[in-house]
Amino acid sequence: MGILSEFLNNKKTVVILGHVNPDGDCIGSCLGLYNYIRENFPQTEPYVYLEPMGQKFGYLKGYGDVRNEYEPNQQFDACITLDASDVGRLGSFAPYLESAKDSLCIDHHITNHGLAKTNLVESSASSTCEVLYGILEEEKISLLTAECLYTGIVHDTGVFKYSNTSRKTLEIAGRLIEKGVDFPKIIDRSFYMKTYGQTRVHGEALSKCSLLMDGRLIYTVVTGEELLRYGCTVKSTDGIIDQLRVVEGVECAVLLYETGKPSEYKVSLRTNTELDVSRVASAFGGGGHVKAAGCTVIGSVDEIIERVCSEVRRQWAGMEQQGMPD
Ligand code: AMP
Ligand code: MN
Ligand code: MN
Repeated sequence: MGILSEFLNNKKTVVILGHVNPDGDCIGSCLGLYNYIRENFPQTEPYVYLEPMGQKFGYLKGYGDVRNEYEPNQQFDACITLDASDVGRLGSFAPYLESAKDSLCIDHHITNHGLAKTNLVESSASSTCEVLYGILEEEKISLLTAECLYTGIVHDTGVFKYSNTSRKTLEIAGRLIEKGVDFPKIIDRSFYMKTYGQTRVHGEALSKCSLLMDGRLIYTVVTGEELLRYGCTVKSTDGIIDQLRVVEGVECAVLLYETGKPSEYKVSLRTNTELDVSRVASAFGGGGHVKAAGCTVIGSVDEIIERVCSEVRRQWAGMEQQGMPD
């Protein structure tokens, strides 16, 4: 029996949780698993709880079934967490993990040290959708489930261009395409398409970006006022960091945006070199992957950038000592 069949055996209800401010991989893996359970495990009723999702994911089956508010009286036989590297990332839904009798964590973050009774964490996988695919039975994956998994893989690989993309990733994507996934539409609609307002927020963020540390680090800031001015939410900042990352000569890209809470900033970090940004994010209580990580920090922009720079400088100094290439 596979991991999933064994786990769901004798469970009447299972709650599926992802991470705060859910991204494509989080939403794709949660809805992919939700659909798969509904289609193949009629004795188990799945529920999904996630913070509000971008409307661009509205084409995914099960999108309208997702619950956005924590319901204190609900309890489930089992809990499955997807794409969440620690309990804090579950946000207000964390009590469902604690109160469930059994739990399973499926993830791909290097900073995940296990948060459930059973933990399936593959840090070399491109995405949680890739890890999830590994425990599903190929012939039981419907087209609608395949669309969810494909979406997650596309988002966490930046459409198959980040270094986390492997032969296995592409083989899985190929199998999902064979199911009939309309991939040009999914890629354009969920990844590249921007609203007019979002395009202007991006333009503003890019026009005021600054280089630091001899051009090795680049950063920019998106303020709450700007988001409001262009009729956007924080989700509109998706993609800005990708453009900073490819500025010539840059080794570390940093995006700060105001979360809406006083003096609180979400910090996104990316690198193309040997720098380990998951360690930088961990220094602020965040986490992620070696080349893509994030954290939430309270302070002023100058203070935060100064602290990020000193963490990065510390790592560079260590690398120089060890004679590592950067
Ligand atoms: P982002 O910059 O939000 O796109 O996140 C990059 C990577 O870091 C993703 O894999 C996130 O799951 C992870 N990440 C972002 N913020 C945090 C955080 N506060 N704590 C742990 N991991 C994070
Ligand atoms: Mn994610
Ligand atoms: Mn992911």
